[in-house]
Amino acid sequence: MLQLRPNSECCDRDLPPQSEDAVICTYECTFCLACAESKLRFKCPNCGGELVRRPRRPAEKLAKHPASTERVFKPQGCKNAA
Ligand SMILES: [Zn+2]
Ligand SMILES: [Zn+2]
Repeated sequence: MLQLRPNSECCDRDLPPQSEDAVICTYECTFCLACAESKLRFKCPNCGGELVRRPRRPAEKLAKHPASTERVFKPQGCKNAA
């Protein structure tokens, strides 16, 4: 199951599970769209993989399989990527 993280690793902005501004890599590193565009050019700074828009989990499924509440914040990695 995809881990839906609650924030952008670059700027710590909140990314609720229904957000359309969340992007994710194959290892579930999660960023906001603004960081992905401006700082990362849609390449994950942790693994080098591509960042794509995170699919939204339907609300009834979200009740059963809730989003992660564990915040991951690594601003250093994002600086190096630029
Ligand atoms: Zn961000
Ligand atoms: Zn990654």
